[in-house]
Amino acid sequence: NAHVKAIDALNGRLNAYITVTADQAKEAAAQADKTLSAGDAPTLTGIPLGIKDLFCTKGVRTTAASRILGDFTPTYESTVTANLLANGAVFVGKTNLDEFAMGSTNLTSAFGVVENPWRRNGDDTPLVPGGSSGGSAAAVAAHLAMGATGTDTGGSIRQPAAYCGIVGLKPTYGRCSRWGTIAFASSLDQAGPMTRTVEDAAIMLAAMAGHDAKDSTSANIAVPDYRAACGRSLKGLRIGVPAEYRAPGMSAELQAVWDRGVAMLREAGCEIVDVSLPHTKYGLATYYIIAPAEASSNLARYDGVRFGDRREGASLNELYERTRHDGFGEEVRRRVLVGTYVLSAGYYDAYYLRAQKIRTLIQRDFTQAFESVDVLLTPTAPTAAFGHNEKPEDPVQMYLNDVFTVPASMAGQPALSVPVSLDSTGLPLGLQLIGRHFDEETLIAVGSALE
Ligand code: GLN
Repeated sequence: NAHVKAIDALNGRLNAYITVTADQAKEAAAQADKTLSAGDAPTLTGIPLGIKDLFCTKGVRTTAASRILGDFTPTYESTVTANLLANGAVFVGKTNLDEFAMGSTNLTSAFGVVENPWRRNGDDTPLVPGGSSGGSAAAVAAHLAMGATGTDTGGSIRQPAAYCGIVGLKPTYGRCSRWGTIAFASSLDQAGPMTRTVEDAAIMLAAMAGHDAKDSTSANIAVPDYRAACGRSLKGLRIGVPAEYRAPGMSAELQAVWDRGVAMLREAGCEIVDVSLPHTKYGLATYYIIAPAEASSNLARYDGVRFGDRREGASLNELYERTRHDGFGEEVRRRVLVGTYVLSAGYYDAYYLRAQKIRTLIQRDFTQAFESVDVLLTPTAPTAAFGHNEKPEDPVQMYLNDVFTVPASMAGQPALSVPVSLDSTGLPLGLQLIGRHFDEETLIAVGSALE
């Protein structure tokens, strides 16, 4: 009831939820009360969560923040949300996002912009929550949910977590099933928790994760007790600080937060090691070939024939064209165009194939670094949250925002963003921890020391 009240009071301004499921939530909460009094309740019994509107939820509209899926109601539940429900969670609504999870600001949603609950000191300019999981981040930061699901293809859990001062964990690729999650770039997409503490993220991830026969890339590896890793001793852990993330032009404030994180971990008994990931500089260019290529293929299904919005046309081709032109927003159309171009017969070798080769080199950088360190520590994003009107006009300028998050995605590494301090204008700044494949536990252990 408290969460539904808070949503009623604040969602009109924040627009964190596209759909609020207050009635179902109250029913589920009443059920949870019964389970609790009967004893032996699963870990998330009665916990109110927001669900990014990219996860299919049975009987509840699922839009991907796109006009083309504006009135799409799935007949099935995604594996991640089914796992959460089986753990007793109560869903209060579907959270806003950048259309099809393409973006870093939440400005591309067909359901309106999301407001970051934070403000600069003495300045009422509305700020972006980051993206693409910006609705989830805003909802958790403003206490409109105790936790929320996000998805991360190139930073969409970690960057909005940093902008809204919360915790965001992108698990190892394959840790959570992708089944029933609307696909953006299938070799990169990964679901994860967004919460106010690292311990909450650990509890929520344990409920979301696990092998699923319906996703062939889901890993058949046991899910450990993540919560037990919170507060674990860090003595003797080796923390790598990658030289290439010290980007030219990095603000003194961001550098200071990074130094502070290093000092905190040294204090906790870690050894700090300088490392090099030499192919980092190709990360963005490679990502912005591979992600649109996969997106153009995944989004081919939205043709107005089988499901979703339809615009009639005199011929089948015209029906496709009008449906896709009207149904997709500008950024999604841009990605489809870039993706089909880099996959086309004449350019495949020059762009897509080359990007795949560089992706292998980026992966090798991480493998080599993790021979000598246990975790990498970097900033999560180059800046704090910015105003709705301060977004760069040039899309390539905007893509630079993903510079610190994209490499871990390309290599499938797990990565955690933890809010570490405020900048001089009073906005949160986050640090990112990147770990070995399937070693989310070490991230949780180190992350809980940085909170
Ligand atoms: N900002 C990145 C993009 O626009 C990442 C998005 C994501 O992780 N879903 O592609």
